[in-house]
Amino acid sequence: MGYWIEIHCDIKSFGPPGELHLNGWCSNESTSYPMGMAKSTRASYFKALKYLTEQAKGWGWKKTREGWICPNCQKYREDVPSETN
Ligand SMILES: [Zn+2]
Repeated sequence: MGYWIEIHCDIKSFGPPGELHLNGWCSNESTSYPMGMAKSTRASYFKALKYLTEQAKGWGWKKTREGWICPNCQKYREDVPSETN
């Protein structure tokens, strides 16, 4: 047993205005978000969460006070909330 952890985009955008994208812009749609497995201990869970958080930031994701936002959605939202730790 263990934990499967995924970081999803909480603040989606709808892409550039006037263009239709069947799969959307958001990384949630293409399942290109950080994910991984942790063992069923608290230590392993927090270690995996830390790793995925660092991976997300390395990929250009931002953690904001309203949640995570993927790099694609950052391009098409003007109202991206400020970053938090
Ligand atoms: Zn997104």
